Order: sequence, then structure tokens, then C-alpha cells
Amino acid sequence: MADKIVMGYWDCPSCGSTGIPGTTYDCPNCGRQRGKETKFYMKAGKVEYVPGHKVVGADWYCEYCGALNTAARTTCENCGAPKAESKDDYFSLKEQKPKPAPSPVQNNIQASPDQNKKIPIWMWIVLGLVVSVTLSNVLSAWFNKPRDYTFDVQEMTWENSIEIEDYRTFRESDWNLPSGARLAYTASEIRSYESVLDHYESVTKSRTVQDGGHYETSYSDNGDGTFTEHETYVPDYTTEYYEEDEPVYRQEPIYDTKYYYDIDRWTYEKTETASGNDKNPYWPTLNLSDKEREAGRESKYTMSGTLHYKSFGKDKEKQQTYEIQESWWRDIKKGQTIELTLEGDKLTEWK
Ligand SMILES: [Zn+2]
Ligand SMILES: [Zn+2]
Repeated sequence: MADKIVMGYWDCPSCGSTGIPGTTYDCPNCGRQRGKETKFYMKAGKVEYVPGHKVVGADWYCEYCGALNTAARTTCENCGAPKAESKDDYFSLKEQKPKPAPSPVQNNIQASPDQNKKIPIWMWIVLGLVVSVTLSNVLSAWFNKPRDYTFDVQEMTWENSIEIEDYRTFRESDWNLPSGARLAYTASEIRSYESVLDHYESVTKSRTVQDGGHYETSYSDNGDGTFTEHETYVPDYTTEYYEEDEPVYRQEPIYDTKYYYDIDRWTYEKTETASGNDKNPYWPTLNLSDKEREAGRESKYTMSGTLHYKSFGKDKEKQQTYEIQESWWRDIKKGQTIELTLEGDKLTEWK
């Protein structure tokens, strides 16, 4: 469809006349020439077509005498000055309007340097972490620093223990028979499931499809008192429903042979312990059946007594028990007073 030309209108600010046809250069009421402030508009309701009107370009004002000329003229109709000298045509005059005041968005951008001065929350978190890690390192270094104490040895003990296992029979089941197992019975049981196509089911689905279209009309200002009418074809869409077959599956069990069997295993049974507060440790006597065996030996040596220490400048003491290595236990004697070096709770040296 070819574009059509329709009439635009303007108002005279001098005498207040309104709705003057755009192709008119002088106000029909007061005779004043259409001013540089003019903005053409369209009237509501039915448009007035201007048959045969050729759009060449925007009207222009002569730089020397101010007369209004059509775009088709290369010189002023009034004084003959060349059009090339003129900076004022309908559209360039619209562009020369004063710039709008800064929008609220621009104000926010200008305000942002102030916000940057504040420390962001993540920096506080990092700072807090650094401080707390440093503090805890300092505290633990202080706490674990080796310190010497006086210790009155009151008791030396030993403990020897032996772990014992017994040979037991377990009833178990599996998909195969392990070596050494004695089969009791087998059974057919569900081992897994398989998806099997059962049937197809009709499902209603929807999709968007084009369904014809319509013309939409818009207008653009030609700057010569007229507007061009544009007809644009806009497609219309509709939702279409259709049926589709979808597969439906069922879960079918797969059977396999399960073996139920008896199997013998060494299993933890008990711990036999011997202990004393003398210097002659011995191992507990074992009375093992042929279905029992030793699974490991362990010795433990301890020293108990009174630890002397200072707290806020005052002498204090407390009962303490330390687990120590065998050579220390052999050398330290009951009733002795020794010097201990502790790192945190750990006994690291004595003399
Ligand atoms: Zn007028
Ligand atoms: Zn002129």
C-alpha cells in the first residue's frame, strides 16, 4: 500500500488562531508569518489527505530576511539569498531546543562518589576474619608455649591389654556365592527393574501459529506542514491445540537367583587386661579355645601426682594424670619431685 500525505496543522501564538492548515505560511487571521517555534500536529478524527503533494523536505527560514521558503527552493523567494547559508529548517530548529534538566538517574550517578567513601560490608567481613584469625593464633601460641612446672609423683601405673577375636558363623545373602561360603538355599528375587514400552497415549499440546494479520497506521512529520501516513502489516497470532501420541512405559521386574549362605569370620570378641601400680608389668594369661585368637597387644603407662603452678601470681596445685612413654615410666620413681615441660596439655619433657 503506497504511503499517503495528510495535512498537518499549526497554531498562531500572536492572535491565538488554532488549526491553521500546515501548507499555509501566513496566519489567515493576523497575517503573521508561521514562526520558528511551530510544531505541526494532527487533528483528532478523520484525516485530510493532500492529493498530489510532493514531499521534498523541511521548510526553511532565510538567514538574511527571515522569510519562510519551501525545501524545493535553493534561493530565498523574498531576497534571493542562497539556501545553503541557512541553518534554520523545521527539523534543525527542533534539535536546537535547550537540553532538558538532568534526570534523577543522572543525579544518582553524580551522588555515587559519596557512597564510594563508605567501606563496603564485604570489607568489614574480611577485616573481621583477619582480626579473629590473628587473635586466635596469638592466643593458641601463648597457650601452647612450653612452660615448666614442678610435679610431685604419687603413683605410677601400667596397663597391658590383648584384643581377642572369635570365629563366628553369619547368615548372609548375595547375587553370587563368595568363596568359603556354605550354601543354605537359593531364591528367585527381584534384582532390578526395566522400562518397557506399554502403550501410546494421546496428549493435547499447544503451539503459537500465525493467523492472518492487520494493518496498523502511523504518521511521520515531513516538516513542510504535512505528515506521511504509513501502513504497516502486523501479523496476528493464535494458540493452536493439537493431539500427539506419547509413549507410556511400565516398570517390569527382572528376577535373579539370590544365594543364602553361611560364612565364618573372625570378629572382635573381648579385651583381656592386666594392670598394676608396681614396676613389674605382665601380660594377662589367655585361655583361648580353637575358635579364638589374639588380634593385637597394647601397653599404656601413666603417672599421677600434684602439679604446682601459678595463677595471677598465686601458687596453686592440682591433681593430674599423664600418659607417658615406657622409658620415662621406667626412670621416674614414685615419691620423686620432677620438673615437667608442658606445651598446652601435652607433656613434652621432664628432668
Ligand atoms: Zn495570527
Ligand atoms: Zn530572504
